[in-house]
Amino acid sequence: MRERFWERFPLEALTEEEWEALCDGCGQCCLLKFQDDEGDLAVLNVACQLLDIGSCRCSDYDNRFARVPDCQQLTPERIDDFRWLPGSCAYRRLAEGRKLAGWHPLISGDPDRVHRKGISVRSFAVSQAEVPDEELEDHIIAILPIDG
Ligand code: SF4
Ligand code: SF4
Repeated sequence: MRERFWERFPLEALTEEEWEALCDGCGQCCLLKFQDDEGDLAVLNVACQLLDIGSCRCSDYDNRFARVPDCQQLTPERIDDFRWLPGSCAYRRLAEGRKLAGWHPLISGDPDRVHRKGISVRSFAVSQAEVPDEELEDHIIAILPIDG
């Protein structure tokens, strides 16, 4: 990867390796979400069945789209469609002209800091496999205005 590539090149000029390295491993985009009639998004503390909550990484990243049809691929071309990403997300930060946070693994060199700082879902997420569908509504933790 090129030195401090995130400061020197636009998102669309990154290599695949650099693009993947931008993910801070918070797991927030793998929490289940529902869109309501007004376009707002309800975020649950329930993580996709494939998320390894301990590491906050996808347990089958290469096959994720085949196994989870709702899993969405983040690409530079689609970044404007991903306003539901958390404000802490590296892709969103760079797309909005902000810098990476000090706790980001590329800055700190420490992939655990995202957990210690409480940015990741490790401390509160439960797996979809443990929550019956009829109880999902009880797990809403935030409503995000998306279309406003
Ligand atoms: S929210 Fe962003 S930084 Fe966090 S896991 Fe998802 S893509 Fe990676
Ligand atoms: S399939 Fe993997 S990357 Fe996609 S939402 Fe589930 S855990 Fe996250």
